Amino acid sequence: MKERGQESCKGVNKMKTSIKIGKIYGIPIKLHFTLIFIVALIAWSVGSNVYLIAEMLGISDPDITIGLESYMLGVVIAVGLFLSVFVHEMAHSIVSIKSGFPVEEISLWLFGGVSKMDEIPSDPNLEIKISAVGPLSSLAIAFIAFVGGTLMVNDLLVFTLLYLSFINFFLAGFNLIPAFPMDGGRILRALLAKRYNYVKATKTAATIGKIFAVLFGILGLFINIFLVLIAFFIYMAASQESQSVMVDHMLSRVSIGSIMSREVKTVDPETTIEEFLRMVTTHQHTGFPVVRGERIVGIITLNDAREVPENMIHTKEVKEVMETDIVCLSPDDDASKAWKIMTKKQFGRFPILENDSLVGIVTRSDIMQAFQIQTEMNKYGDNF
Ligand SMILES: [Zn+2]
Repeated sequence: MKERGQESCKGVNKMKTSIKIGKIYGIPIKLHFTLIFIVALIAWSVGSNVYLIAEMLGISDPDITIGLESYMLGVVIAVGLFLSVFVHEMAHSIVSIKSGFPVEEISLWLFGGVSKMDEIPSDPNLEIKISAVGPLSSLAIAFIAFVGGTLMVNDLLVFTLLYLSFINFFLAGFNLIPAFPMDGGRILRALLAKRYNYVKATKTAATIGKIFAVLFGILGLFINIFLVLIAFFIYMAASQESQSVMVDHMLSRVSIGSIMSREVKTVDPETTIEEFLRMVTTHQHTGFPVVRGERIVGIITLNDAREVPENMIHTKEVKEVMETDIVCLSPDDDASKAWKIMTKKQFGRFPILENDSLVGIVTRSDIMQAFQIQTEMNKYGDNF
């Protein structure tokens, strides 16, 4: 029972928007619910435009009937598209794992796939290798499907293979756009990181990505309004990614031990809400860990207490309204770990445990302050 204290800190209620379909190489593979719409949309659009697409692919007078046959073909293409995206993401993940960087999960959703990595390699060459292998694998599929398509005689097979070849060329091209979160953006950042420090490289890469998005959007106004939407998505993603990389990078240099408050007031589960409110006023803290004996069983905050009607604050106890979904950290963890969990799960504070006993607490504002200090200090280079 080494981690007895931490045990209570793990149960997490996540909103379920994806379903896990399996594990490959130890990486959970998840399907996001938006995928159902996109598969249906592709199946429908391929099914009803089959002659138009055939013409684009150079198949004259195709032996395909509009109706069940063409819509089934649409389903096959849609599944083929997602298998292609899956192979693309798998390629990133395998190279990443082989290079010693674990991949948290692969999730397939509306815009394709995302491989979540715990950390980004600081070696630019490695980042280039991990990023480039995705588009390369898409190109390889495109090539194989193209050769296969030209060798087949059955119109349905020719259509499927040539269209998948086209899709994979597009996937490779789209992912090579030099903007976050596309692979091209990462490759660009890695190339810049060979000359500048990581933060500057990220900032510059994000700016280039945004310029690209704006040009792309203007182009879209003349060609296809859908491109404007994609441009907007790229612009937002570029800002978000650079912001997130910056925060992550800054906070990874700060240890939890250096920013936590060591004086922790705790309450026991049987405390009434009235007593708790009195503690809030006395100590000017809005939240306290709830401790039974040596063990942390939850966190109570002013927000939780607000749910209790005024006439019940004398009888209701902390244990009835406290948050039991908590994560504990250690003083040796870095602040970026807390920040990641904080943004993912909307936690406001973390109890800090050392050898199973509570040694401190870190709140959202401690982390924001640490970030501000790091940002200021970054101006002075690596002197601080
Ligand atoms: Zn990729």
